[in-house]
Amino acid sequence: MNPITTHRVQLLLASWLVLHGCLLHAQQPFLSEAQWTLMREEASGLAPYENLRSLTRLHRVPATPEFDQAAEFMLMRAKEYGLQGAHAEQFPIDGKIHYGLMRSHLGWHVEAARLWELQPERTLLGDWATDPIRLADYSHSADVDAALVDVGAGTSEADYADKDVRGKIVLADGALATVQRIAVMEHGAAGIVSDMPNQTTAWSGLDTTIVRWGHLDALLPSGFAFMVSKGTATALRAQLTRGRPVTLSAHVKAEVGPGHWTVVTATIPGTDPQAGEVVYSCHLDHQRPGANDNASGCVTILESARVLARLIESGKLPRPARTLRFIWGPEVEGTMAFLSGHPDIRRSMRADVHMDMVGGDPYKNKSILHVTETPWSLPSFVTDVGELFAETIRDSAAVYAEDGSHREAAVVEDRNGASGTRNEFLSDRTPYAEGSDHDDYDSSTIAVPSLYLRDWPDIYIHTDHDTLEQIDPTKLRRVALLGAASGYTYAAADAEQANALLPFFAARAQRRLAEGFERAQGLVNDSRMQPREAWYEARNLMTQMLWREQAELRSFSTYVQSDPEKGVAFSKDLDAQVAMLNRWMDRAAALRGAHDFQPLAPWRGEPDASRIPVRTAEFGPLTFQNDDVLVDRLGSERMGKIKLLDNESNRLFRVQDRGALYAYEIVNFVDGKRSVGEIRDAVAAEFGPIPLDVVADYLKACEEAKIVALR
Ligand SMILES: [Zn+2]
Repeated sequence: MNPITTHRVQLLLASWLVLHGCLLHAQQPFLSEAQWTLMREEASGLAPYENLRSLTRLHRVPATPEFDQAAEFMLMRAKEYGLQGAHAEQFPIDGKIHYGLMRSHLGWHVEAARLWELQPERTLLGDWATDPIRLADYSHSADVDAALVDVGAGTSEADYADKDVRGKIVLADGALATVQRIAVMEHGAAGIVSDMPNQTTAWSGLDTTIVRWGHLDALLPSGFAFMVSKGTATALRAQLTRGRPVTLSAHVKAEVGPGHWTVVTATIPGTDPQAGEVVYSCHLDHQRPGANDNASGCVTILESARVLARLIESGKLPRPARTLRFIWGPEVEGTMAFLSGHPDIRRSMRADVHMDMVGGDPYKNKSILHVTETPWSLPSFVTDVGELFAETIRDSAAVYAEDGSHREAAVVEDRNGASGTRNEFLSDRTPYAEGSDHDDYDSSTIAVPSLYLRDWPDIYIHTDHDTLEQIDPTKLRRVALLGAASGYTYAAADAEQANALLPFFAARAQRRLAEGFERAQGLVNDSRMQPREAWYEARNLMTQMLWREQAELRSFSTYVQSDPEKGVAFSKDLDAQVAMLNRWMDRAAALRGAHDFQPLAPWRGEPDASRIPVRTAEFGPLTFQNDDVLVDRLGSERMGKIKLLDNESNRLFRVQDRGALYAYEIVNFVDGKRSVGEIRDAVAAEFGPIPLDVVADYLKACEEAKIVALR
């Protein structure tokens, strides 16, 4: 053995010991090594993968017969897996009934739908029976042979100049509901053929065979749409450009009207009925196949349930004090209906594990598994718990991927011939992002902090390519373990753990404050602002971050009802850290010529700043899948005048709209104590500086809509 080899072996041995030591204890301080290992060994990737296979065969549009078949399947599995009180509930919907603040939507029943090209060739372009994604949701009955007219995007009047679309079928790639309103309702077109593009990612447009899932406006009384791929639409456009007529034959037998939402729920009872509940949520709806979005979340919370039920019922894991509840229903709408129907359960919920897209093979659909923070309006320890378990899995998977060691710790699913990968676990922690049921749970009038687990991006979301093929059973197993460990920790946490856990949470808080300082430095040096204004925004950011971290520490003490005094010393240490960081920042401000910091807000003296909004409306946030409370109550013309909201943006694209994020949090920060100015400072820290009058203007619109009263 030459000296170099000896040295290498020593190094390897040293690194093995370091890693081995880390891996064994990485799940602490929340679970013992034995508890973690039990859950790790029980978790399966194959079980959720096979359940997912069943769900992907169903076109799971809410309030349709196939959605109910999916619900039936989840109910059957919940019973098989030994969950308690498993049952399905139906909530009537008619477009008028409200659940909390949300107006219900409509149901849809399709008997048949086919689109033929008659001329120049006889080709079948879409058939509901074999490929239901080809028919846009809420299409109405029709029986027409008609010419196809290319209207470009079809979303503005100009697209229809010099074109006669009456009785014809339009080819458009604009937002579908807008095309329906203009082409069908205003210009008398019979229906639509659409190649509306999918949500934008770096890969958008590269694959021209993808067919997107489309939705018409269920509240409009007529129209149908067939969805085609970009490739098909391009070929049709080429025909029309060459002056060759295209004749289509559309047959749709479908009805939009009152119906019901089905929600399935089941529990693992805790030892103390007074201790509250930990809820696992997902959404069971979406197009066929909808493998990652969101069959994956449904089957993975089910797998977390199976693991915990098996270990708790067999006595291997102590039964936690809090009840674990699992809910499968239509996205956002099912959550609102269930919470509205069960105010007692809503009030007893303490924490939520929400999974929406958790099984994507990152090398196929380009996804990263994000552990998503609660919004700043609801600081909570729940994110730190989930983040720690995600790190544990990620680090073990990285070691295994690199040198093949620690296979068991890496939680790889290739037992019993399962087809899991040996990939790394690509995960990180990200700020709050909108777009799923956690928006309800995290909103101020429900206030159940959510651990939101989500793949993003996913280049196949809401298309016919979101198939089983994109799913990695190894990832399903890992996320099921992450979900089981997190939910069990929330359910079992007690006051005795405070001494061990407060230093952990405080250390993570210190790390975030140090990272946040870099953002504050960017603000203090932002040349777009005057030096004193920049200084105020930077100091405000540090103040709000400190408030958030101290509230997060308190959230744990409150959750386990431990002596609040125990957290005080840690809280003071955070004060001291921020005082130091502020001194550093003041020096940066001095370099720009600003001295003697006075905490005077730029908005002081403005009459609206000191007014205090109070929440007056029913529970829930203001936007839902198919309902926007402000549009409902104020009308779209008044909405168009709200400064904060970009009225160009389509409701379905709100996920990426920053105005909507501000709006969500402005309403959440309304607590009857904060003034309009203080709410401005809170959202300015979270998302970036914003003028006071934009916040005040939005709150005035909320007052007109009777959601808040301004005192
Ligand atoms: Zn989803």
